[in-house]
Amino acid sequence: MTDLDAQYALIDASMLAARLYGKEDVRVEQVPQPQVQPGEVRLRIRAALTCGTDLKVYRRGYHARMITLPFVFGHEFAGEIESVGAPAASAPGGSLPWKVGMRVVAANSAPCDACFYCERGMYAQCEDLLFVNGAYAEYLTLPERVVRKNLLPIPDHLSYEEAAMVEPLACVVRGMEDTQVQPGDTVAVIGAGQIGLLFMRLCKLAGARVIAVGRRPDRLEIAREMGADVLLRSGQEADIVESVRRNANGGRGPDKVIECVGLPEVWERAIQMGRKGAVINLFGGCPKDTFARLDTHRLHYDELTLKGTFHHTPSTVRQALHLISEGLVPVRTLIQQRASLQELPGVLKSLTNGNTAVKVAIYPRE
Ligand SMILES: [Zn+2]
Ligand SMILES: [Zn+2]
Repeated sequence: MTDLDAQYALIDASMLAARLYGKEDVRVEQVPQPQVQPGEVRLRIRAALTCGTDLKVYRRGYHARMITLPFVFGHEFAGEIESVGAPAASAPGGSLPWKVGMRVVAANSAPCDACFYCERGMYAQCEDLLFVNGAYAEYLTLPERVVRKNLLPIPDHLSYEEAAMVEPLACVVRGMEDTQVQPGDTVAVIGAGQIGLLFMRLCKLAGARVIAVGRRPDRLEIAREMGADVLLRSGQEADIVESVRRNANGGRGPDKVIECVGLPEVWERAIQMGRKGAVINLFGGCPKDTFARLDTHRLHYDELTLKGTFHHTPSTVRQALHLISEGLVPVRTLIQQRASLQELPGVLKSLTNGNTAVKVAIYPRE
């Protein structure tokens, strides 16, 4: 064995990780520690955040991209570099800029930079988008491509849980780019989950007036903290479309509407709300094989723009970290509970059963 081989020798050890076995069946157990190959970096996870996507996976017992059960999951995380692989073959002579002990955050994917869509700058549509899962664990190994494209150092003044908000915020930053919110716009944001609340904040930062539409009073309170100017409870208004329109542009409707619920019937309402020439961002992903009805007359004569935004890009990941770092997005307001990795199964159960926390931070070790 050469010195280099010894230095990068693979460690055979185990770690605690949460694995999904099926519908609402998550077990925290000892699994082999992920090994570190050339170009890779292994993190000691310092904070992972629960997310609506994880809850969906938990409830359904599977994810389209999870081929075999049991599966490690969790995709919002920050941590400390615990091991650095040898330089990748593609970077001969060079060494990775990453050092053991560095505090870092990574996005949960990285585009290939070589496919049809990447060549057109449409990185979220990359035909070979590489995803990372397994944040609910003591360790996570990041693939070489994610290390190269989407691994960032955390500024000293940020906590790990704050930094872990980079992933959802990066998706929202991209949604803002697509929606083209202008100063003075009135924007209706439908849905007061983590994504809707982040949109409300970024719309305020962009100089817009924000109408928040949500179901629960506690979430509308957070919407107010995020800067929403008008709060509307969808269940309480006789006609939510009318209520939103009444509150924007002299009854004409908002300039922009952002749907953050992901239900076909809410998409339909979102499209009805906008003023003539409005941009409607259908940000909330609906279940597969569902359809929404379109008012064709209105779409044409009122010159509506319908837009979908999915996922983030390396550029919006960097912008998201910058926004958090500058204190422009009060991410701590959204992280409402903290729990240990061992408590994760109970946390997920509670979140499907009345626990109203926007996000819970999961700590593998205190
Ligand atoms: Zn997420
Ligand atoms: Zn690609």
